[in-house]
Amino acid sequence: MSVGGAGTGASASAGAGAGAVPAPGEADAPGADAARPLVAPPSPERLSLNTATVREQWNLRQMIEACARHGIRGISPWRDKLAELGAGEAARLIRQHGLTVTGLCRGGMFPAADAAGRRAAIDDNRRAIDDAATIGACCLVLVVGGLPDGSKDLAGARRMVTDGIAAVLEHARASRVPLAIEPLHPMYCADRACVNTLEQALDICDAVDPPPAGGRPSGAIGVAVDAYHVWWDPRLPQALARARPERLLAYHICDWLVPTTDLLLDRGMMGDGVIDLPALRMLVESAGYRGFHEVEILSTRWWQRDPDEVLRIVRECHLHCS
Ligand code: ZN
Repeated sequence: MSVGGAGTGASASAGAGAGAVPAPGEADAPGADAARPLVAPPSPERLSLNTATVREQWNLRQMIEACARHGIRGISPWRDKLAELGAGEAARLIRQHGLTVTGLCRGGMFPAADAAGRRAAIDDNRRAIDDAATIGACCLVLVVGGLPDGSKDLAGARRMVTDGIAAVLEHARASRVPLAIEPLHPMYCADRACVNTLEQALDICDAVDPPPAGGRPSGAIGVAVDAYHVWWDPRLPQALARARPERLLAYHICDWLVPTTDLLLDRGMMGDGVIDLPALRMLVESAGYRGFHEVEILSTRWWQRDPDEVLRIVRECHLHCS
């Protein structure tokens, strides 16, 4: 059943979305789905708001105040909103409201048609790292970029991504800002990210920051696991097991709607789609991830709603459907 999507405004406490978890004790009740393992609900303390979720309704100051008002402890701003407010003022407000910055969105976009374009991208990523450091972000999320204009050289684009990340890694390390490569669903391969699986992202981590023999990764680079982008991957369990906790830097959630009517802006509220979010969270946490659950819903439907109502539903659906 739809919890809150499709603009219905239905109450999330209706509960039994696609990813709903039985309430404690309910799993043993007659008729309970015996096949589903019992996954304890997530702690509301782990909820973070990726500000894309309400980006059409609020500026960053309003978002920070709203997180505090709704008891949401984490926030992940986007750079356009951060630039509007100023990183210094944002840092002050975030501290004042006691929020954890679970990420800054986003760096990346490394491939370009010529060397000047690639240099500009590297400079832009250095500035993003500086902003992430100013606001105390747990990581800078990298959406790595797709094919340069007019190019069909996918392997070349992927080399440019690895080279670009390598070029900014030492600045990130010195700034204490871990870089989180976010693999995107393959439908974005051409224009947004030519890194499309967690394994591919981990290969880049190993290439640019190899762990010492028999030792653990440095934590300077890792991955952002976004349910929307990785849920379909049959090799996801192996990839998560391969990633050490040091490399699991962020976990983003929303849901995959059927049908999806827009490639970018039709993401669903948790419980409204087909991703088994409790099972995915269990996998991610079994791999050692202990961080926040960042709700990131790019959706023209949700952008039309009252943002306070959106955050109330986000809280409910995080608890009951993720
Ligand atoms: Zn994401």
